[in-house]
This record gives sequence, C-alpha cells and structure tokens, in this order.
Amino acid sequence: MIERAVNFERLRGMRCGSCKYEWQAHDEWLDRFHQADEACPECRTDCQVEERPDFWVVQDDSLYDDSKVRDVYWYHTSTHANWPDRTFDPTARLTDETKQRFQDIGTDGRSLERWAQGQKTKALHLGTYEAAIENMLRRMSDQDSADDQFYLYRVRLSPNAAIVPGVHKEPTDWVGDVQLAKVCAPGLNTFRYVNTHEDPSSVSLAVTPDAIQAVQGIPIPLAIDAAHPWISAATARLLEAASLPAPQPKTALERMRRTAPSALSDEARKLEAEVADTLPLGLRHRLHAHFDAASLTTNPGAFPMKLTGLAQLVRDPLAALDLLDAEPWRDV
Ligand SMILES: [Zn+2]
Repeated sequence: MIERAVNFERLRGMRCGSCKYEWQAHDEWLDRFHQADEACPECRTDCQVEERPDFWVVQDDSLYDDSKVRDVYWYHTSTHANWPDRTFDPTARLTDETKQRFQDIGTDGRSLERWAQGQKTKALHLGTYEAAIENMLRRMSDQDSADDQFYLYRVRLSPNAAIVPGVHKEPTDWVGDVQLAKVCAPGLNTFRYVNTHEDPSSVSLAVTPDAIQAVQGIPIPLAIDAAHPWISAATARLLEAASLPAPQPKTALERMRRTAPSALSDEARKLEAEVADTLPLGLRHRLHAHFDAASLTTNPGAFPMKLTGLAQLVRDPLAALDLLDAEPWRDV
C-alpha cells in the first residue's frame, strides 16, 4: 500500500473550460484569478464566464491508472465514531416530530422508510488526507458542526472494488447526498471525480460500502499539551478579556448593532485569526472553532487548544498518520 506525501500547498491543476488548455497554479495566482485579476494563460478567459478555467487533475497523476486506485490509502472525516457503520439507523437522530412530518408526506405512509433507505445507500466520499481535513474544516465553518467530535479514517479499498473507467467532473447535483447508481453502470462501485472544493484538483472517490475493505480511525483534533507557552498565553488573554467591559462602538454601523461583541468574543476572534495566519493561504478562511464563553470557567484552555489542534492537523500531518499506524484495522 502507498501512503501519498501530504502537501497542503501543492500546485493546483487547472483546465480552461473555453480552450481546454491545462496548466498548474499556486494559491496566490488562484487568489488573483478569483478576483478576475488573472486568466487562462492561453486564451485569457477569466473567472466571470461559464466556460471559465477550473480545477483539473494533472495529466501525470498516477490515479488515472485504475490499478493504482486500490494501491493507495484513502481518507475520510466523519462525526460518526463507527464509520462506515452498515447497521447505522439514519432515523435514530430524528425527533418524533420530524418522523411524523415524513409520514405526513405522500399517501402510503412509507416516506420515512424510503428516506432512510436513500440515506443508507448514498455514496461515501473518500479523498486525500488533505481533502479529508479540509472537508472537516468546511463542515465546522459552514454547517454548525464546530462543537462536534470528528474522526479521521484511513481507508483500504477492497481488492474487488469495481472502478468506473476514467476521472470525471464532479457531478453538480450531488452536494452531500448522491446515489452512486446514478453515475455508475450496474456492478461498479467506485467513481473517480476531480475534487474542486477540498485539496482542489486532487482525485476523490464516491463509493458504496462494498468497495471498502477496512478502516483505521482516530478522534481529531489530536490532544494538545496544555502547558505549551502559546496555550498558556492565549488562555491568559481570554481570561483578561472576560474581565473587561464591551468596547465602545466606533462606527455608525457598530452603533446600530443591537448587541455589541464583548471584549471576550473579540479576543477569541483575534486568537482564531492568529492561528489561521499560520496556515497555507487557501485554508485561512476555513478555520472556525466555535468559541463557547461558558467553557472559560470550566476549561479555560479549551478554545486555544482546539485551535492549535486543528492547525496541527495541517502543519504536522505525520503526527496524525503515526497515530493511525498504531490503530488496528477494522473490517467493513
Ligand atoms: Zn483558455
């Protein structure tokens, strides 16, 4: 099995939607491109039209080779402690009220059952270590999952995983839920697509559980030493801010807000920005660890430790990979 080198700052493969020219770009170029200050080097198409350049897997990526897909480790992050759990009951987290609302849809009283079946057969997404970590960061910032416990899984595909030929564009209609049967011929269970959101231009997979042989998992972020000087200093800054009055609004806009941010929440945001600045450019806007003011009395170091733990997954991936090495494989 091959462990691919982790690099959050690799050059990104690009392909022009207009002239099909392919090249590689770094984060600073992409930042300018997304502000329409850069364009296709060949035909000058920029980001503002439908045929704009987009991420594409570079031509010498070994994952174009079907036989290599089973030879590398794949990664996934989840809030499920036992992912992928074939006995998972998707209705377990629903309230009685939501269940009733399902039953009220349609006339045969089987809407809930159909929804649950759809949840059980939806594709699982696997990608690079970088894509898995970025997916967690995106979920934490976009989907109110900042307080959830996440797990990092290393995945070994089954030798019998049946791979759809070629690397495909990510189907646009499958944000979240996708039925693999919609994009795969019968009998196939592994679909390669270009990930344009996480570790952009890397290959990701949509698979059914049959394609997976075994997984290793660890809770993330990793534990951080509370005695680290930055943690103690950051904790002291939060405790100090908690004792200060809310800052006076300076602008008309600030004066119009009903609730002014407290000195404490300002300080928490500053800490978050400081840690974000240590990450690669493309990831800085993704770091959001929900600050819970109530935790300051019970565990004042919790927030700085969480921020540092998240950043460590990017800055020191080997620490997480070493911990995974020590975990037993669980057959799926
Ligand atoms: Zn072009």
